[in-house]
Amino acid sequence: KEVADKIAAGEVVDRPLSIVKELVENSIDAGASAITVEIKKGGKAYIRVTDNGCGIEADQVETAFLRHATSKISQAKDLETIETLGFRGEALASIAAVSRTEIITKTANAPAGVRLAVEGSRPAEKEMTGCPNGTTVVVRDLFYNTPARQKFMKSDASESSLIIEFISQIALAYANVKIRLVNNGSLLFTTPGKGDRYQNILTVYSREIGDELIPVQGQQGNLSLEGYISGPGLSHATRKHQIFFINGRVVNSKILQKGISQAYSDKLFEGRFPAAYLFLQAAPQTLDVNIHPNKREVRFDNEAIVTEFVRQILRQALLSKES
Ligand code: ADP
Ligand code: MG
Repeated sequence: KEVADKIAAGEVVDRPLSIVKELVENSIDAGASAITVEIKKGGKAYIRVTDNGCGIEADQVETAFLRHATSKISQAKDLETIETLGFRGEALASIAAVSRTEIITKTANAPAGVRLAVEGSRPAEKEMTGCPNGTTVVVRDLFYNTPARQKFMKSDASESSLIIEFISQIALAYANVKIRLVNNGSLLFTTPGKGDRYQNILTVYSREIGDELIPVQGQQGNLSLEGYISGPGLSHATRKHQIFFINGRVVNSKILQKGISQAYSDKLFEGRFPAAYLFLQAAPQTLDVNIHPNKREVRFDNEAIVTEFVRQILRQALLSKES
């Protein structure tokens, strides 16, 4: 059984980023309004995600680590109307199979919290503990029991930069959630979490891109676009500073990239990338998000319309800044 666990775990957990992603998504599903992510050595040595969400009842904590245990789907028909990020009930089981995991959790009406340590899928220790409402998951020594997998991880620096990039995107996507990120003991940022996208973008990126962003807003038919782009004064943005959300999901989008480069085409940006944080809403029936399992690819029925829409709105924003 343990072997099966380890194999299955490899599909969900292939590197520190996937653990961070699963834990943060659980925190969001738990309704947290504040999430702290702490990593050490690119997440290989230590990952801790703390939230102030709903917590887990003391007698349900072991269950949460069972494969296919999810509290998020009660009936089969729920599968069609899923609104939570997780629903397969595999993440905690998979993480615990390949690391030393610990969970500390408390629901609002429980008098005390509970701490459960799990090592290589086996619950090791359980005790009552004083703690705030919410959940903390600590993951130590990733792949300590599957050495072959350690080889597939990159350097600490590359693993941590994947995580930092992901948490930065989450911070923009969930502007209502206060997100704190700590890397090797130093605080990288804390977003205000007050629902103000602009403030969140500045908190996360201003060190790199400064604070001269132009607001973008437009609507046409079933398409609407909002966000911020850099003005002609910014010369050092990279592709990393182009972040796209389509219907709330972070995506890679050639269509939006194309709209951006067309909008800036006769500007100062020749050969460089403007910063662009764009949130596009489109009628769900006009696009397909099930192209790739990671859902990062999106296909539109009519790409030309979307590109042209983006070009026009960005163009207006750039021109308004000039006059
Ligand atoms: P899934 O998210 O697909 O349901 P997971 O393995 O990620 O599966 O989590 C299993 C269960 O543990 C969840 O359904 C939820 O009930 C509980 N859980 C996990 N993380 C948290 C959290 N941060 N806050 C509250 N409950 C949690
Ligand atoms: Mg989950």
